[in-house]
Parts: sequence; C-alpha cells; structure tokens
Amino acid sequence: MQFERRRILTGIRPTGPLHVGHYAGALENWIKLQREYDCYFLIADYQVSDFASDLPRVRNAVREVALDWLAAGLDPSGASFVIESMVPEHAELMTWLAWYTPIGMLERNPTLKAEMEAIGDPGDAATKGKSVSVAFYIYPMMQAANILLFRSHLVPVGEDQLPHVELTREVARRFNRDVKAIFPEPEALTGRVPRLVGIDGGAKMSKSLGNTIDLTDSAETVARKVRGMYAGPPRGAKESGTVAENPVFAYLDAFDPDVAQVMHLKQRYERTGVSNKELKDRLTRVLNELLEPMRDRRAKYDANPSLVRDALEQGTQRARAIAKETMAMVRDALDLDYFRKR
Ligand code: ATP
Ligand code: MG
Repeated sequence: MQFERRRILTGIRPTGPLHVGHYAGALENWIKLQREYDCYFLIADYQVSDFASDLPRVRNAVREVALDWLAAGLDPSGASFVIESMVPEHAELMTWLAWYTPIGMLERNPTLKAEMEAIGDPGDAATKGKSVSVAFYIYPMMQAANILLFRSHLVPVGEDQLPHVELTREVARRFNRDVKAIFPEPEALTGRVPRLVGIDGGAKMSKSLGNTIDLTDSAETVARKVRGMYAGPPRGAKESGTVAENPVFAYLDAFDPDVAQVMHLKQRYERTGVSNKELKDRLTRVLNELLEPMRDRRAKYDANPSLVRDALEQGTQRARAIAKETMAMVRDALDLDYFRKR
C-alpha cells in the first residue's frame, strides 16, 4: 500500500494583507510543518460575507495573501494553495454536514459571538448584531467542511479558532457514528503565540481592526507604527513599570530571538525603569530583522506575477482531486445514487 502523508488543512480570510500576528500565531508553524505533512492552505473567500460591500478588497486580498505566503516562506511546490470558492465541493459537503451540526455549538461559540457583536453597532443596543448575515453565522460550519473535505489530521491555527476545530471534531464524530466512518477527528495545534495583541493594546491584532503591523510594511512604517504603539499606563522615562501591562514586551517575547536579553530588560523595567524609547527602538530593529528576508522574497514574486497565479491554480487543482475523492465517499455513504439502474 502506498504510504500517505498525514494532512493539514488551515486557512486565512482574504480581507487584507497579513500581519505579524498571523506570522507568530500561524504561519511560522505552517512553514515548519510543510515538509512533514501534505498541506492545504486555504484562502477562505466564502467566509468574508462581512466584506460583501467591498468585493474589490476581497478579490485583491486573495492575491495579497498568496504573495504574503510566498514571501513568508511557504513553498507551493510541496504545499497546495487553495482558493475555497474554486473547489465547489466545499459548499456541497457543508450542506450535508449541516445535518450533523449541533446548532447549540454555534449559539454558544465564543469567537462567533464576539465577532457578531463587533459587526453590529456596539454603541447602539437596538441595532446590535442586526447586520450579521446567515453566511457569517454559519462560517464555522464552512470551516468544518474545509477541514473534513481533505480528511485532515491536523489544523494549525490561532487561539480564536479553537472553538471551530472543536465543532469540526463533533461533526466528524456524528457523521462517522451515524453514517459511515470516513473522517479522521482532526487535532488543533496553536502556535508559539496563540494570540498577539494589537498595537492599540486591543486584545487581538486583526486585519479588520486596523491595529496591525503588516508583513508588507516598510522599515520606516514599522518604525512609525512601533513609535505610536500603546506601551502601558503613562509612566515617566525613569519610572519602573509592570511588564504585564506593557504590550511591547509581549512583542519582544514573540519576536526577539535573544531571550536572555529580554529577560534582563524585564528585570530592569520592573526595578529601575527602562524608557519606552529604548524598548521601542529594540522592537523596531527586531521586527525589521524578521521582515527583511520576506521583503527580498516578495520582490522576486512581485516581479513575476505569473508565479503567484500558478501557485494558486496548481494548488487548487490538487485540492480538487482530493475533494472529489471525499465527495464520492460521502455520496456513497449517504446512498446518493438516484439514477442507478436497479
Ligand atoms: P479578520 O479580522 O479579517 O478576521 P484576522 O486577522 O483575524 O482577520 P484570520 O484570517 O481570521 O485573520 O485568521 C487567520 C489565522 O491567523 C487564524 O488561524 C487565526 O487564529 C490566526 N491569527 C489571526 N490573528 C492572530 C493574532 N493576533 N495572534 C495569533 N494568531 C492570529
Ligand atoms: Mg479572524
């Protein structure tokens, strides 16, 4: 029997350029795992109904995301870059899986709840949540179909996605039990930094909140954003402070390879104080060292747009082959063959 590598499915919404939170929370892991697993990296363009009024942004972001992946070091000759809507089996499988999806898991899903509140006007109790579409409400079901379509074993994601992977496991268990054992129960894997805070000090750096440092930012932009970054409660330059209250340290923990120096800085900060300028200058240097090789790789792909298109087209084709295989198994299990001659 041919040896089959275990599979990974994970993805990103095409809503804008990727940021350093994606890198620390997801991409870094993907890059490590891409040789070991058969990887499918999905650009989830069914799951952006909250951007329905700005389709040009979504269409443009599909290419931006692929370019960011290439710049970050994903290798499309081994891993498959997949555009969700170009594999219509995703929608087909989701429809069948909806039969086995407990609605309470959507009602109680903490990530979905928080996102729906953010879409509705949080300042106005009367309109709160009103503009949420059915498509948005069921996006965790779409994710379950994404993962199960590839019969994936592992799903490397940020912390906010864990309830969706739990839903996927439940759907797989129910289908396997009630219909036929087709789907592996996928495991979630969070990265070294499961949730990076925003530069505004907000709980999560997020494309749609505008509190990001992007992988595409120039050295000057990084310096400007870091200078303006929230750095804890106001404090004189020579005053000591509390490390946990200053998100600059969360970023140093995430990106500074010199762990011993960061520990030393933390001790000085709490004992005698360190100026925010010193901390921010260090962070700017550390972030630019991380982003510089990505800038170089990006320039190569920017000059060859056909490489980006080819990566998307070939990856999507490879994905479609597996998608068809899974759907054949599902149709067979559901005895969906109405035109068979009896
Ligand atoms: P949007 O605001 O459009 O939802 P996003 O920034 O949340 O964008 P997603 O496309 O929803 O990005 O998420 C892609 C992947 O990156 C997911 O696995 C998610 O958990 C992870 N991720 C996103 N933001 C962060 C963050 N700040 N820290 C760690 N992981 C993150
Ligand atoms: Mg998100």
